[in-house]
Amino acid sequence: MSGTLAFSPWPNGASAAVAITFDVDAEAGWLAEGEEYRRRLTTLSEARFGITRGVPRILELLGALDVPATFYVPGETAERHGAALLAAVEAGHEVGHHGHRHLRSDKVGAAAQREEIERGLEALERTFGLRPRGYRSASWEITPETFSLLGEFGFDYDSSFMGDDRPYWEEHDGNRMLEFPVHWSLDDWPYFAWSIEAGGNLAPPAAVLDVWLRELDSVIEDGRLMTLTMHPEVIGRGHRIGVLASFIAAARERAQVWFASHGQIADHLGVR
Ligand SMILES: [Zn+2]
Repeated sequence: MSGTLAFSPWPNGASAAVAITFDVDAEAGWLAEGEEYRRRLTTLSEARFGITRGVPRILELLGALDVPATFYVPGETAERHGAALLAAVEAGHEVGHHGHRHLRSDKVGAAAQREEIERGLEALERTFGLRPRGYRSASWEITPETFSLLGEFGFDYDSSFMGDDRPYWEEHDGNRMLEFPVHWSLDDWPYFAWSIEAGGNLAPPAAVLDVWLRELDSVIEDGRLMTLTMHPEVIGRGHRIGVLASFIAAARERAQVWFASHGQIADHLGVR
């Protein structure tokens, strides 16, 4: 049976915890969609914007506000942009595993799923000199095969499922994994990302901030953990980065909120 964890009280009397997380898909996010993207240089340049402009903006903001974050990085992104992302590691942020080529596990066979885990681990170890403790699947899809690989490769926690809005044990086929749940409403992509094929919303930043703060109010009320998921090429636009700044400031005005990486939260829960 799945069960939630006894996670309260949070450290130093905080009434809630917030994990700021980024999925650094960059070019890998598009290249995984098909070979035709190798020729779509404009689309790839928008992805690259996340590295050239998004990550520096994010690191400056988090540094100024003294907030740690978790960056889930595909192995290919680490290989392509290691120097830029090393700045996040040097600033004390956590790096998590986000596949290698950002292939969706439900779209490929068992061998490719294993390769995604293995090559992603190798790339992160080679680039950053660390072994990630946390995993987040590409597009949040996980198959039974990939779920069992997480246990086999010794991950401490995952952040891809939506079965609760508290930390909980995700269980399949006799394996279990500490889960820091996510949700589409707490992800910048559905609000802001626009593509020529699929269109999108290009939502007003204030509307997104409103949703996230309403969720935060419920999180504080219950003493829960809230995980926000963002993409540097999305939230890192000049008119959007203020959403993150305003969210952190508003959280601190509302209550004592513990901003922590997923690794710090796992340590607090005593799971490793
Ligand atoms: Zn991703």
